[in-house]
Amino acid sequence: MSLFTQHAQRLTPYVPSARFAGRRDADWLFLDWNETTFPLPDFVRDRICSALHNGLGVAYPDGDDPELQQATAANVGVKPENILMFNGSDSGMRDVVHSILEEGDSLAIVEPEYTQIATFLQTVGAIASPIKPSDPFAPDIEQICDAVLKSKAVYISNPSNPTGRLFSETDIRRILATGRVLLLDEAYAEFAGVNYCSLTKNHKNLFILRTFSKAYGLAGFRLGYVVTHEENIKILRKVRNSKEVNAFAQIAALSVLENVSLIHERIKEIVLERERLIQYINNSQWDIRAYPSKANFVMIRTASLRGLLSHLENHHILVRDRSSMHGLTNCARISIGTTIQMNRLHAALKGYYSTNSADSTTSSTLPHSHDQ
Ligand code: PMP
Repeated sequence: MSLFTQHAQRLTPYVPSARFAGRRDADWLFLDWNETTFPLPDFVRDRICSALHNGLGVAYPDGDDPELQQATAANVGVKPENILMFNGSDSGMRDVVHSILEEGDSLAIVEPEYTQIATFLQTVGAIASPIKPSDPFAPDIEQICDAVLKSKAVYISNPSNPTGRLFSETDIRRILATGRVLLLDEAYAEFAGVNYCSLTKNHKNLFILRTFSKAYGLAGFRLGYVVTHEENIKILRKVRNSKEVNAFAQIAALSVLENVSLIHERIKEIVLERERLIQYINNSQWDIRAYPSKANFVMIRTASLRGLLSHLENHHILVRDRSSMHGLTNCARISIGTTIQMNRLHAALKGYYSTNSADSTTSSTLPHSHDQ
């Protein structure tokens, strides 16, 4: 007999980046996991170093550090009482899932979607109910609302990982009007320039997940938070282990928020590079197309995906193969880096398609992006 529960034994684990499998050399360009590729700002390093000199790390952190709470809330336009910090937004997601769902409950997921949530669902015996839009880049909101009614809750990343599509505020309000719980994951909201945090004031069925891992460049530090109505926060606080909030991350996040103009400059560069990559690909005559995106990554589709991925690997560029996901045959997701890094990617794409004439025909087998 196993020591483990049936749920634990049956789990579908989240698969992390392939970079950990022997791709360690410094010249690798990791465009597969949507972190920032900018270096850690000096002011973060200096703040952490001086805090270390003053004894940081010996005592437990204050999981509700008021200064950080205040700065974070102001940054997304809500009150500090609407925010609860976690060791990364995934931990917030886990505690929300474990607070609202139990054995047999179902959670709707609009495919394709960030898969981490499956692990949290399955550990409590809750069930994922996939919604499979015929066009994953432009899902039909009515179809989603109808399907959501059959579940207790729905999880949506917005902008979506992996497609980069963005639901409008009107769409989100329609989903909220179903009365079901909406877990809205805004990990990439900074790249879209919109967030729906203010909706938590009047919608108790809305839980928004936010992170310092993407635009703020602190993925390895681990800090994220849930934004929701203050009455929900009171319950979530009982579930959360406040000692999981990381003291190093708190300092890093506060110093980033105090110097947020640097982050805005970086976001601007990433957005410019995102649009430049989409244009570069879609203006080419190669057999590859890029989809519009509001996040810090772009989905591409090419009939010769295998060949392209191994060419990029040979040039030490790692992107994320998403071809096994719903509606994403022959697709890969490319995270956007700095201008210099993107120039390297453009050159690698050109190198591949100009030497693989069978893949660079003028009569493309793929639809152009405006058809999609
Ligand atoms: N949500 C989404 C949609 C993501 O893509 C990711 C990172 N892959 C996360 C959450 C993880 O966020 P965190 O690092 O804050 O746990």
